[in-house]
Amino acid sequence: MYWTQTFIPTLKETPADAEIVSHQLLLRAGLVRKLTGGLYTFLPMGLRVLRKIERIVREELDRAGGIEVLMPALQPADLWRQSERYETMRDVLFKVKDCAQREWVLGPTHEEVITQLCAAEISSYRQLPKNFYQIQTKFRDEIRPRFGLMRAKEFVMKDAYSFDATDEGAMASYRKMYDAYTRIFARCGLRAFPVEADTGVIGGSHSHEFMVPAETGENDVVYCESGVYAANIEKATSRGPTVATPTVSTGAVPERFPTPGVVTIEALAAAPYGVEAHRQIKTLVQVADGQVILILMRGDDQLNEAKLMARTGAMQVRPATPEECVAALGARPGSLGAVSGVPATVKVYADEALRGACGMTTGANEDGWHCRNIDLERDIRVTQWADFRTVKVGELCGTSGLPLKIRRAIEVGHVFKLGTKYSDKLNATFLSEDGQRHSLVMGCYGIGVTRTLQAVIEQGHDKDGIVWPVTVAPFEVCLTPLGVAPGAPTRVAAEELYAALVAAGIEVILDDRDERPGVKFKDSELVGFPLRVGFGEKSLAKGEVEFRPRGGVLEPVKVADAAARVIAWVQAERARLQ
Ligand code: ATP
Ligand code: MG
Repeated sequence: MYWTQTFIPTLKETPADAEIVSHQLLLRAGLVRKLTGGLYTFLPMGLRVLRKIERIVREELDRAGGIEVLMPALQPADLWRQSERYETMRDVLFKVKDCAQREWVLGPTHEEVITQLCAAEISSYRQLPKNFYQIQTKFRDEIRPRFGLMRAKEFVMKDAYSFDATDEGAMASYRKMYDAYTRIFARCGLRAFPVEADTGVIGGSHSHEFMVPAETGENDVVYCESGVYAANIEKATSRGPTVATPTVSTGAVPERFPTPGVVTIEALAAAPYGVEAHRQIKTLVQVADGQVILILMRGDDQLNEAKLMARTGAMQVRPATPEECVAALGARPGSLGAVSGVPATVKVYADEALRGACGMTTGANEDGWHCRNIDLERDIRVTQWADFRTVKVGELCGTSGLPLKIRRAIEVGHVFKLGTKYSDKLNATFLSEDGQRHSLVMGCYGIGVTRTLQAVIEQGHDKDGIVWPVTVAPFEVCLTPLGVAPGAPTRVAAEELYAALVAAGIEVILDDRDERPGVKFKDSELVGFPLRVGFGEKSLAKGEVEFRPRGGVLEPVKVADAAARVIAWVQAERARLQ
C-alpha cells in the first residue's frame, strides 16, 4: 500500500473531547472518526486492525470447535418478551417500529435468537455438543457512552453460544472457550487475565471476565499477590473486615438515646457519641423488584449492588426514597433501624460481617433517636444472612491469607456458564440417549472486539503514539523514503524493498508523501507501525538504510541485506506472539 493511495488523517492536536489516551490516539492516528457520541466510522488503518483482531478471534474459535454463523441484528420484540429480557434489559435496548407499527429490537446480544434456532434445529443428543459463534455489530443504549470504542452505542462483538447435553459437557465447552480466550488475547499482544465474575440472578459459580489492567478501566479487580485469587469487586470475597465485629454481649438491653441532627455514620462516630463505625448497624432500605426490603450492614461497610441482586434474585434494585422509608418504617434515612417497627412482611437481610454482633448501635426508627446495646441475633428479626459487602484493600484473601489488593481494569471478554435459563424459557430441548426430553445446557461467551482494539492501544503506547504488536498492526512495516520524486534514489530503493517484502508476504506501507522528514517520521510513530525503514540520501550513498523498530534504536543496515533483515524481524515478532 502507498500512503497517498489510502486515507490516514493524522492530527497534531489532541481532540478536546477525548479523555483517555487510547481514545486520543485512535483519533490522532486517524484510525476512527466520531459520527456522534458512541458512534464511530472506522477509517482504513482502524479497519485493518479490526479485521486482524477478528481474524485472530476466528482462527482461535475455529480451532476450539466453534461454528461460525451470522444472525440478524434486527430481532422481533416478542422474542425478547418471551425471555423476559424485554423488561430486564429495557435500559439498554434500542427499539424500532416498522411501517405497520410492529416492534423490533436491535440486538444487544443474541441468546434469544440462537436459542430459538437450536430449539428448531436440535432434537437429539447425537447433534450435541455444538458451539455457534458470530462476529457482529451489537447495539446498546448505554446511558454514558464514553472513552471512544470502550463504551459505544454500536460496537463489534464476538459472541458464542454452546449447547450441551449435560452439565459436565457444558463445563468442558466453557473450559475450551476460556482457553481460546487466553490464546486470543495473547496473540493480540494484550496482557489480559481472567477474574471470577458475578453471575447475577442466573447463579452458578462459573463466570470469568478477561481483564486488561488499566487505570482508565471501569472495573475494580480484587486480587491476591500470590496469584491464587482474582475477582471482580462485584463478586469478590475476603476473610472479612480487618477490624473484627464485637461479639461479646454485656447482657444490657436495648436503650434509646437522643441524637438530634445525627444522620450519618460519621456524625455518630464523632463526639459526643463516639460510636465507632464498626459498632454501628446501618439499615439500608431498598426497593427490589417493587418490594421494600431492609439490608443491615456494618457502619463501615459498603453495600455491593451486584451481590444484593445475586442474593435476593431481584432483577432491579434501587435505594428507597426518603418518603418510601417513612412509609415503611416511620423514619427518614439516618435514623432507620430494624429493632422495632419493621412490618412482618418486610424481609430483613443481614450481612455476614454482622454475625454474632453485640453491643451495637443503630437507628431507632424515629428521627433524632438511636438505639444502643443491640445484640443483633437477640434483638433483630433477620430473614436471611448473606454476604452483601464490598471487599476492601488489605483484607485477607480467603485462599492464601495474604492481604488483598485492588486495581482498575478494562473488561475485554466474558465467559459464562448459563445452564438452562434460556433453553427453559424458549423451549429448547433434546431427547437424551435414554429417550428423555431435557433442556439444552448452555454457555455464552463474548469478546468486545472493538473494545479489545482500543485496549491494545491503552496498554501499548508511548509519548509519540501507538506501539502496535505486529499481529494486529495496520501494517507491519513502514518504508519512509525522504525524497519521493520519481527516479530519486531514495524512492527507487524504497520501491525495490517494497516489492521484495510484498513478495515475502510482509504487510508494508510506503510513505510516498512529499512531506518533510519530520512529518513522516512523526506520523509513522503516531500510527505506530512496528518497524520503520528510512531511506535518506546520505546513508543511501553509503549503501545503507535506517532500520528502526518502533520504540527501539536506529540501526544502519546494508541495502543488500535489508529485505532479509526485515523479513527475519517480522517473522520473529509474529512467532513471539503466536
Ligand atoms: P460492561 O460491564 O462493560 O457494560 P457487559 O458486562 O455489559 O460489559 P457483556 O454483555 O458481557 O458486557 O458483553 C461482552 C463484551 O462486549 C464485554 O466483555 C465487552 O468487551 C464488550 N462490550 C460490552 N458493552 C460494550 C459497549 N457498550 N461498547 C463496547 N464494547 C462493549
Ligand atoms: Mg454493559
